[in-house]
Amino acid sequence: MSARAGVVYLVGAGPGDPGLVTVRAMELIRSADVIVHDRLVPRGLLDAAREDAELIDVGKRPREATVAGERLGTAEAQRAIEELIADRARSGRSVVRLKGGDPFVFGRGGEEAEALREAGIDFEVVPGVTAGVAGPAYAGIPVTHREDASAVAFVTGHEDPAKEETALDWDALAAFPGTLVVYMGVSRLGEIVSALTSADRDPAEAAAAVERGTLPGQRTVEAKLGDLPAAADAAGLRAPAVLVIGPVAARREEIGWLEQRPLHGRRVVVTRARAQASGTARTLAALGAEVIELPAIRIEPRLDTAEVRRAVDEIHTYSLVCLTSPNGVHLLFDALAAAGRDARALAQATVAAIGPGTTAALRERGIVADIVPERSIAEALVEALADVEVLDRPVLVARAAEARDVLPDALRDRGANVDVVALYETVAEDPDPAVIEAAQNADYVTFTSSSTVRNLMEAVGDRFPDGARVVSIGPVTSEAAREAGLEVHVEAAQHDPQGLVEALMSDAARRNEM
Ligand code: SAH
Repeated sequence: MSARAGVVYLVGAGPGDPGLVTVRAMELIRSADVIVHDRLVPRGLLDAAREDAELIDVGKRPREATVAGERLGTAEAQRAIEELIADRARSGRSVVRLKGGDPFVFGRGGEEAEALREAGIDFEVVPGVTAGVAGPAYAGIPVTHREDASAVAFVTGHEDPAKEETALDWDALAAFPGTLVVYMGVSRLGEIVSALTSADRDPAEAAAAVERGTLPGQRTVEAKLGDLPAAADAAGLRAPAVLVIGPVAARREEIGWLEQRPLHGRRVVVTRARAQASGTARTLAALGAEVIELPAIRIEPRLDTAEVRRAVDEIHTYSLVCLTSPNGVHLLFDALAAAGRDARALAQATVAAIGPGTTAALRERGIVADIVPERSIAEALVEALADVEVLDRPVLVARAAEARDVLPDALRDRGANVDVVALYETVAEDPDPAVIEAAQNADYVTFTSSSTVRNLMEAVGDRFPDGARVVSIGPVTSEAAREAGLEVHVEAAQHDPQGLVEALMSDAARRNEM
């Protein structure tokens, strides 16, 4: 059910990984009129909001907040936020109040619910995955364990343990028979640990701090409780982080998983067009990389041309149809569909695909390619076609406008009547300066075509990430990179996205060993 007018939704956005957002939260984010959000909500989540939704960042910092451009102290800011939310709801709009983690775990969600009740405004609470459970889980630490901990306490480290009137009983917490999970504890780590150990918590007990849990760049500092402050200092630990105190912290040795992934901690720039990049980006992210999508090119379909119309009308007459990219396949079939035709129009033709991506796209459209070369480059396709009879036969090469002419030239040399039809153009994408900035300390920049090389270099100018290793999909792309003044560090042996990922992984493994 989508967000209802006049209702406020107190929604947990999870700890940071966009995959840890609930289905209900997504549904409400997609449909709300107004979204009032904190600083700690997963990046990209707000992209799901309606185009015309009002997004209000109340970006609360530890001690202040900005409401409608005014910086306020905490208590004041909290009241201003409550008024803002109530006001939007009263004007008949649906309001999502989006908070990091769970709204009722150190999120002031309880206070906001009370204020809404008092104002007579209807609300719903959508729990979220809380950082104190998810951060440790991503670090390989179960907050409870049959052998180690039958209880867990969630503690705020925000209160000063040295203060007389502190609401927390540190003596009781020291004696607590289970795991302590401390939120907001980084700046007072030293005081917290000494309050606990002077109340007889064992300084030799296992402990850990999980920084940026579930986010790219998650880090874990592990030490005996007594040594944790020094270890955190040495590592330069910063908020947001949760502290986990208890023997469960040592389980990480055995069940740590995320930080063991082959590309954990590596920043990889993907330069393909947005629509194509997502598959590669997902694969890299699943291997643990932090992926920065910096699309250098964009696909512009060119289906409304006389040559495309003619090719589609006469598609059944071609004896050989060559497809050189997944985009080409999808656009050809879109053009066929627009003309009221389908895959049967290709029944008589031999269908050749340049590589596995194109083959997969064809299969999605109901065609099994007859010819696929081992290496995904035009020269290899020419070779693979050596036994196909083309003399005086009509051949269709459907592709991008700016592709190389190796394939049509070779077929013409063999006497084929080749129609080259451009289904799309790849045009330069204007990259977001913020993304170029984020790419500066990348470990790898990947290139899947000469056009991505040329367009990216043009777009970034002298802001190509210095320290990054350049990974190319194959010789043609490598050549373009060298021409653009780049050193190519890694070239895929198999010239497709999967091959590119594999080459990058072996390089990362080699460097891990060094
Ligand atoms: N409502 C939130 C907590 C808000 S208090 C929740 O349920 O998770 C803010 C504190 O949460 C931070 O100081 C930090 O201790 C913790 N926190 C939030 N996100 C975190 C993350 N990604 N990794 C580690 N700790 C995090």
